[in-house]
Amino acid sequence: MRWSTSKAIVGSLEGCDVVRVLVGDEQRDFAIHRKLLSESCSFFKTHIEAIPAPSSPQDCDDGEDSVLWLPNEAPDMFEIFVLWLYQRRRFPTFIDSALQTMCPDKFRTLRTNLVRLHLFAAIIDLPGAQDAAMDTLQDMYLRFDWDMSPRFLAFLYGDCDAQHAVRLRKWATAMLAWTLHGADKAAARHDADKLFAAYPELKADYHLHLQKMAQSRADVRIKNPQLRLPANGLRSGERLFGFRQCTFHSHRATVGEGTCPHALALGHTPAPLPPVPRRDKEDVESDREEADIISPVRDLNEVSYLDLS
Ligand SMILES: [Zn+2]
Repeated sequence: MRWSTSKAIVGSLEGCDVVRVLVGDEQRDFAIHRKLLSESCSFFKTHIEAIPAPSSPQDCDDGEDSVLWLPNEAPDMFEIFVLWLYQRRRFPTFIDSALQTMCPDKFRTLRTNLVRLHLFAAIIDLPGAQDAAMDTLQDMYLRFDWDMSPRFLAFLYGDCDAQHAVRLRKWATAMLAWTLHGADKAAARHDADKLFAAYPELKADYHLHLQKMAQSRADVRIKNPQLRLPANGLRSGERLFGFRQCTFHSHRATVGEGTCPHALALGHTPAPLPPVPRRDKEDVESDREEADIISPVRDLNEVSYLDLS
Protein backbone atom coordinates (compact mmCIF):
# COMPACT_ATOMS: atom_id res chain seq x y z
CA MET A 1 0.00 0.00 0.00
CA ARG A 2 1.28 3.41 -0.89
CA TRP A 3 -0.35 6.51 0.43
CA SER A 4 -0.89 9.61 -1.56
CA THR A 5 0.51 11.32 1.52
CA SER A 6 3.80 9.45 1.50
CA LYS A 7 5.33 12.47 -0.22
CA ALA A 8 4.71 14.32 3.03
CA ILE A 9 7.37 12.25 4.72
CA VAL A 10 10.02 12.48 2.05
CA GLY A 11 12.61 15.18 2.49
CA SER A 12 16.21 15.83 3.31
CA LEU A 13 16.42 15.86 7.07
CA GLU A 14 18.93 13.44 8.55
CA GLY A 15 21.14 13.05 11.55
CA CYS A 16 20.51 13.30 15.26
CA ASP A 17 16.98 14.68 14.96
CA VAL A 18 15.82 11.45 13.44
CA VAL A 19 15.23 7.96 14.75
CA ARG A 20 15.07 5.12 12.27
CA VAL A 21 12.47 2.49 13.03
CA LEU A 22 12.80 -0.88 11.34
CA VAL A 23 9.54 -2.78 11.17
CA GLY A 24 8.84 -6.47 10.67
CA ASP A 25 11.08 -9.28 9.53
CA GLU A 26 11.84 -7.37 6.37
CA GLN A 27 12.99 -4.40 8.49
CA ARG A 28 11.24 -1.79 6.43
CA ASP A 29 12.85 1.50 7.29
CA PHE A 30 11.01 4.54 8.63
CA ALA A 31 12.78 7.77 9.56
CA ILE A 32 10.85 9.67 12.20
CA HIS A 33 11.58 12.86 14.11
CA ARG A 34 13.04 11.82 17.43
CA LYS A 35 11.16 14.44 19.45
CA LEU A 36 7.80 13.66 17.88
CA LEU A 37 8.13 9.91 18.37
CA SER A 38 9.55 10.21 21.86
CA GLU A 39 6.76 12.49 23.01
CA SER A 40 4.02 10.30 21.55
CA CYS A 41 4.05 7.82 24.45
CA SER A 42 6.21 6.44 27.23
CA PHE A 43 6.93 3.28 25.24
CA PHE A 44 8.87 5.16 22.58
CA LYS A 45 10.29 7.67 25.05
CA THR A 46 11.79 4.90 27.17
CA HIS A 47 13.27 3.03 24.25
CA ILE A 48 14.59 6.11 22.50
CA GLU A 49 16.26 7.27 25.69
CA ALA A 50 17.88 3.83 25.95
CA ILE A 51 19.68 4.31 22.65
CA PRO A 52 23.29 5.22 23.33
CA ALA A 53 23.98 8.85 22.43
CA PRO A 54 26.25 9.39 19.41
CA SER A 55 29.80 10.11 20.46
CA SER A 56 29.93 13.24 18.29
CA PRO A 57 27.70 15.31 16.01
CA GLN A 58 29.88 14.01 13.18
CA ASP A 59 28.47 10.52 13.80
CA CYS A 60 24.99 11.83 13.01
CA ASP A 61 26.20 13.42 9.81
CA ASP A 62 27.90 10.18 8.86
CA GLY A 63 24.63 8.29 9.09
CA GLU A 64 25.22 6.70 12.47
CA ASP A 65 21.51 6.90 13.15
CA SER A 66 19.61 5.73 16.16
CA VAL A 67 17.65 2.63 15.30
CA LEU A 68 14.73 0.84 16.88
CA TRP A 69 13.39 -2.43 15.60
CA LEU A 70 9.79 -3.65 15.90
CA PRO A 71 10.19 -7.22 14.64
CA ASN A 72 6.63 -8.38 15.33
CA GLU A 73 4.72 -5.56 13.71
CA ALA A 74 3.49 -5.18 10.15
CA PRO A 75 5.20 -2.47 8.05
CA ASP A 76 1.93 -1.48 6.36
CA MET A 77 0.36 -0.96 9.77
CA PHE A 78 3.31 1.13 10.85
CA GLU A 79 2.96 3.27 7.75
CA ILE A 80 -0.53 4.19 8.91
CA PHE A 81 0.82 4.82 12.40
CA VAL A 82 3.39 7.27 10.99
CA LEU A 83 0.64 9.01 9.04
CA TRP A 84 -1.35 9.38 12.27
CA LEU A 85 1.74 10.57 14.16
CA TYR A 86 2.40 13.40 11.71
CA GLN A 87 -1.15 14.23 10.67
CA ARG A 88 -3.40 13.51 13.63
CA ARG A 89 -5.78 16.28 12.83
CA ARG A 90 -6.11 15.42 9.16
CA PHE A 91 -5.90 11.65 9.60
CA PRO A 92 -9.58 11.04 8.67
CA THR A 93 -9.18 13.21 5.57
CA PHE A 94 -6.12 11.28 4.42
CA ILE A 95 -7.85 7.94 4.93
CA ASP A 96 -10.85 9.23 3.05
CA SER A 97 -8.82 10.35 0.05
CA ALA A 98 -6.84 7.10 0.12
CA LEU A 99 -10.10 5.17 -0.12
CA GLN A 100 -11.17 7.20 -3.11
CA THR A 101 -8.04 6.37 -5.08
CA MET A 102 -7.36 2.88 -3.76
CA CYS A 103 -8.16 -0.29 -5.72
CA PRO A 104 -11.31 -1.81 -4.11
CA ASP A 105 -9.59 -5.13 -3.48
CA LYS A 106 -7.29 -3.30 -1.06
CA PHE A 107 -10.09 -2.05 1.18
CA ARG A 108 -10.03 -5.15 3.36
CA THR A 109 -6.26 -4.94 3.65
CA LEU A 110 -6.56 -1.39 4.92
CA ARG A 111 -9.19 -2.59 7.38
CA THR A 112 -6.81 -5.29 8.61
CA ASN A 113 -4.01 -2.79 9.09
CA LEU A 114 -6.28 -0.44 11.03
CA VAL A 115 -7.14 -3.35 13.32
CA ARG A 116 -3.42 -4.01 13.71
CA LEU A 117 -2.87 -0.33 14.48
CA HIS A 118 -5.54 -0.46 17.16
CA LEU A 119 -3.87 -3.48 18.76
CA PHE A 120 -0.37 -2.00 18.44
CA ALA A 121 -1.59 1.20 20.08
CA ALA A 122 -3.08 -0.88 22.89
CA ILE A 123 0.24 -2.66 23.43
CA ILE A 124 2.25 0.57 23.58
CA ASP A 125 -0.52 2.41 25.47
CA LEU A 126 -1.27 5.14 22.97
CA PRO A 127 -5.01 5.82 23.34
CA GLY A 128 -5.14 8.59 20.74
CA ALA A 129 -4.00 6.23 17.98
CA GLN A 130 -6.37 3.52 19.19
CA ASP A 131 -9.34 5.81 19.03
CA ALA A 132 -8.41 7.24 15.64
CA ALA A 133 -8.19 3.67 14.33
CA MET A 134 -11.57 2.84 15.86
CA ASP A 135 -13.25 5.88 14.32
CA THR A 136 -11.81 4.98 10.93
CA LEU A 137 -12.89 1.36 11.20
CA GLN A 138 -16.45 2.37 12.02
CA ASP A 139 -16.48 4.80 9.12
CA MET A 140 -15.23 2.12 6.72
CA TYR A 141 -17.85 -0.37 7.88
CA LEU A 142 -20.53 2.27 7.40
CA ARG A 143 -19.23 3.31 4.00
CA PHE A 144 -19.13 -0.23 2.64
CA ASP A 145 -21.94 -1.55 4.82
CA TRP A 146 -19.81 -4.48 5.95
CA ASP A 147 -21.03 -7.03 8.46
CA MET A 148 -18.82 -8.38 11.19
CA SER A 149 -17.28 -11.50 9.69
CA PRO A 150 -17.02 -14.76 11.67
CA ARG A 151 -13.31 -14.78 10.85
CA PHE A 152 -12.79 -11.36 12.40
CA LEU A 153 -14.62 -12.43 15.56
CA ALA A 154 -12.63 -15.66 15.74
CA PHE A 155 -9.44 -13.60 15.41
CA LEU A 156 -10.45 -11.19 18.20
CA TYR A 157 -11.50 -13.94 20.58
CA GLY A 158 -9.09 -16.68 19.55
CA ASP A 159 -5.84 -14.95 18.67
CA CYS A 160 -5.77 -11.64 20.55
CA ASP A 161 -4.91 -10.86 24.12
CA ALA A 162 -8.20 -10.00 25.88
CA GLN A 163 -6.82 -6.77 27.34
CA HIS A 164 -5.38 -5.53 24.05
CA ALA A 165 -8.56 -6.31 22.15
CA VAL A 166 -11.10 -5.18 24.74
CA ARG A 167 -12.38 -2.19 22.74
CA LEU A 168 -12.39 -4.01 19.41
CA ARG A 169 -14.26 -6.88 21.04
CA LYS A 170 -16.87 -4.50 22.43
CA TRP A 171 -17.46 -2.96 19.04
CA ALA A 172 -17.38 -6.31 17.18
CA THR A 173 -19.93 -7.75 19.61
CA ALA A 174 -22.25 -4.80 19.02
CA MET A 175 -21.80 -5.33 15.28
CA LEU A 176 -22.65 -9.02 15.66
CA ALA A 177 -25.82 -8.22 17.61
CA TRP A 178 -26.87 -5.70 14.98
CA THR A 179 -26.25 -8.27 12.21
CA LEU A 180 -28.09 -11.06 14.03
CA HIS A 181 -31.12 -8.88 14.56
CA GLY A 182 -31.23 -7.58 11.01
CA ALA A 183 -32.36 -9.05 7.74
CA ASP A 184 -30.85 -12.28 6.37
CA LYS A 185 -30.02 -13.42 9.85
CA ALA A 186 -30.38 -17.20 9.40
CA ALA A 187 -26.90 -17.75 7.98
CA ALA A 188 -25.39 -15.28 10.44
CA ARG A 189 -27.12 -17.07 13.32
CA HIS A 190 -25.62 -20.38 12.23
CA ASP A 191 -22.12 -18.87 12.16
CA ALA A 192 -22.69 -17.17 15.49
CA ASP A 193 -23.76 -20.38 17.21
CA LYS A 194 -20.52 -22.03 16.08
CA LEU A 195 -18.53 -19.04 17.35
CA PHE A 196 -20.36 -19.02 20.71
CA ALA A 197 -19.49 -22.70 21.13
CA ALA A 198 -15.84 -22.05 20.31
CA TYR A 199 -15.43 -18.80 22.29
CA PRO A 200 -17.41 -18.62 25.56
CA GLU A 201 -16.07 -15.10 26.16
CA LEU A 202 -17.73 -13.94 22.95
CA LYS A 203 -21.01 -15.49 24.07
CA ALA A 204 -20.76 -13.74 27.45
CA ASP A 205 -19.90 -10.37 25.85
CA TYR A 206 -22.75 -10.77 23.41
CA HIS A 207 -25.35 -11.38 26.11
CA LEU A 208 -23.96 -8.53 28.20
CA HIS A 209 -24.36 -6.24 25.21
CA LEU A 210 -27.97 -7.34 24.67
CA GLN A 211 -28.63 -6.75 28.36
CA LYS A 212 -27.25 -3.21 28.16
CA MET A 213 -29.26 -2.49 25.04
CA ALA A 214 -32.42 -3.66 26.80
CA GLN A 215 -31.62 -1.54 29.87
CA SER A 216 -31.25 1.58 27.76
CA ARG A 217 -34.35 0.64 25.76
CA ALA A 218 -32.30 0.61 22.56
CA ASP A 219 -33.52 -1.32 19.57
CA VAL A 220 -30.70 -3.65 18.50
CA ARG A 221 -32.17 -3.89 15.01
CA ILE A 222 -31.67 -0.20 14.24
CA LYS A 223 -28.91 1.01 16.61
CA ASN A 224 -26.05 0.69 14.16
CA PRO A 225 -22.48 0.29 15.54
CA GLN A 226 -21.08 1.44 12.18
CA LEU A 227 -22.53 4.88 12.86
CA ARG A 228 -20.63 7.04 15.34
CA LEU A 229 -22.23 10.19 16.59
CA PRO A 230 -20.01 13.01 17.83
CA ALA A 231 -21.37 14.09 21.23
CA ASN A 232 -21.90 17.71 20.27
CA GLY A 233 -23.78 16.66 17.15
CA LEU A 234 -26.39 14.59 18.94
CA ARG A 235 -29.95 15.59 18.28
CA SER A 236 -32.94 13.98 19.86
CA GLY A 237 -33.62 10.61 18.33
CA GLU A 238 -30.21 10.30 16.67
CA ARG A 239 -28.87 7.94 19.26
CA LEU A 240 -31.58 5.45 18.36
CA PHE A 241 -29.72 4.86 15.09
CA GLY A 242 -26.08 5.00 16.11
CA PHE A 243 -23.63 5.00 19.00
CA ARG A 244 -21.99 7.96 20.65
CA GLN A 245 -18.51 8.30 19.18
CA CYS A 246 -16.78 7.66 22.50
CA THR A 247 -18.68 4.42 23.18
CA PHE A 248 -15.81 2.43 21.67
CA HIS A 249 -12.98 4.78 22.64
CA SER A 250 -10.26 3.77 25.05
CA HIS A 251 -10.95 6.63 27.50
CA ARG A 252 -14.55 5.65 28.05
CA ALA A 253 -13.95 4.33 31.58
CA THR A 254 -12.39 7.58 32.82
CA VAL A 255 -14.33 10.20 30.92
CA GLY A 256 -17.70 8.49 30.67
CA GLU A 257 -20.19 10.69 28.91
CA GLY A 258 -17.89 13.74 28.98
CA THR A 259 -16.21 15.46 26.07
CA CYS A 260 -13.86 13.30 24.03
CA PRO A 261 -10.31 14.18 25.18
CA HIS A 262 -9.00 13.67 21.65
CA ALA A 263 -11.33 16.36 20.38
CA LEU A 264 -9.79 18.73 22.95
CA ALA A 265 -6.27 17.64 22.08
CA LEU A 266 -6.88 18.16 18.39
CA GLY A 267 -7.66 21.79 19.07
CA HIS A 268 -4.07 22.27 20.26
CA THR A 269 -2.17 20.27 17.70
CA PRO A 270 1.19 21.88 17.02
CA ALA A 271 2.17 22.83 13.50
CA PRO A 272 3.47 19.84 11.52
CA LEU A 273 7.19 19.23 11.65
CA PRO A 274 9.25 19.48 8.49
CA PRO A 275 9.39 16.44 6.21
CA VAL A 276 11.46 13.40 7.06
CA PRO A 277 13.24 11.27 4.49
CA ARG A 278 12.53 7.66 3.76
CA ARG A 279 15.75 5.86 3.08
CA ASP A 280 16.32 3.46 0.28
CA LYS A 281 16.32 -0.20 1.19
CA GLU A 282 19.87 -0.55 -0.09
CA ASP A 283 21.03 2.03 2.43
CA VAL A 284 19.46 -0.01 5.17
CA GLU A 285 21.14 -3.18 4.01
CA SER A 286 24.52 -1.56 3.82
CA ASP A 287 24.65 0.17 7.15
CA ARG A 288 22.46 -2.05 9.26
CA GLU A 289 25.40 -3.89 10.79
CA GLU A 290 26.95 -0.68 12.05
CA ALA A 291 23.67 0.55 13.45
CA ASP A 292 22.84 0.05 17.05
CA ILE A 293 19.68 -2.00 16.66
CA ILE A 294 17.42 -2.27 19.65
CA SER A 295 14.16 -4.15 19.68
CA PRO A 296 11.69 -2.33 21.90
CA VAL A 297 9.25 -5.20 21.81
CA ARG A 298 11.71 -7.87 22.77
CA ASP A 299 10.40 -7.76 26.32
CA LEU A 300 6.74 -7.73 25.38
CA ASN A 301 4.56 -10.75 24.84
CA GLU A 302 5.17 -12.44 21.56
CA VAL A 303 2.05 -11.12 19.96
CA SER A 304 1.74 -11.23 16.26
CA TYR A 305 -1.44 -10.17 14.59
CA LEU A 306 -2.11 -12.06 11.41
CA ASP A 307 -3.97 -11.31 8.26
CA LEU A 308 -7.70 -11.59 8.86
CA SER A 309 -9.02 -10.51 5.52
ZN1 LIG B 1 -13.74 9.87 22.67
